[in-house]
Amino acid sequence: MKYLKVRIPGETIEIPYLKIKGKKGDQRCIIAGGMHGDEVNGIALVQRFLEYCKKKDIENHLRGELIIFPILNESGFKNHQRNVAYDNKDLNRCFNKKGKTASIKIANALEKQFFSKCDIAIDCHDSGKRNILIPHTRVHGYEKRTCAECTKEMAKAFGSKLIIERDGKRGMLAVEMMKQHGIPVLTIEIGGALKVADKFLDKGLEGIINVLKYVRMLPGNPKIPQKQYYLRDRYGVLAKDSGLIRFKKKLGQRVHRGDFIGDIYVPTKAKSYNLISPVCGLLFSLQHSDQIAKGEIMYSILEDKKCHVRRQTVQHFEEIKNIEM
Ligand SMILES: [Zn+2]
Repeated sequence: MKYLKVRIPGETIEIPYLKIKGKKGDQRCIIAGGMHGDEVNGIALVQRFLEYCKKKDIENHLRGELIIFPILNESGFKNHQRNVAYDNKDLNRCFNKKGKTASIKIANALEKQFFSKCDIAIDCHDSGKRNILIPHTRVHGYEKRTCAECTKEMAKAFGSKLIIERDGKRGMLAVEMMKQHGIPVLTIEIGGALKVADKFLDKGLEGIINVLKYVRMLPGNPKIPQKQYYLRDRYGVLAKDSGLIRFKKKLGQRVHRGDFIGDIYVPTKAKSYNLISPVCGLLFSLQHSDQIAKGEIMYSILEDKKCHVRRQTVQHFEEIKNIEM
């Protein structure tokens, strides 16, 4: 194991990484997990990929070089939190920024020594503490049409049923690497709620291998499903009261407007309310805990605008769009 050293006042932060070099080829791919300290599935996916590399003696058929970061944000991980513990900043908003805080220094060191020198990268996340997400990839709408291995093409090759386009925010690794260096970084989101989701991770591993095949770093052709959804609008429903929640639909299921999704029991009113889907789409995230607090997102749906029926409004709950992801 090697370490990227980042000096901050009174301390040196060490970020572990491994290098696997193939016999020929000069492409370089970075695979990273644990940008957010409470996203265990990103970390577990990198672990699974490392196990795969070992089992398959990957260096014997790899073209180019893999640089693998098992965990980018160890201080957050130790503290069960998303942000870097030294300054409580979100590392994935600190790329290409000037400043002296620990997170900006970590981001700058990662960019300068690694990400600016790679051809493609895969950044593994999950949805954090409270929700579970179905496995998907995220791409950005602003991509230059001319980029060599566009993130969108990588996302298709990854082969998840779902690809989500979003605007992206300043300081995000994927956004800044494309803007600064024209390097595509594919963001992977799998599971959440501090539980490793084995079934989802199988898909994630297959996806990473697919991407490596697509860029010809591994032999063979990617296995891509016949149908992939490319969606943009995530539609969330907030709880207006605290209560106990029960879902009758499963994550990833297709729902129609008016479908019964589950119910919420509000003890202060001793009353239950049905959760009725306001839109057509894919059930994208479900609150993990059975207890929900007022103002939390109960579930979200990726809206399928081609659906033939129009949206209805939900009566007892508040709907929001453009949820922070
Ligand atoms: Zn994340």
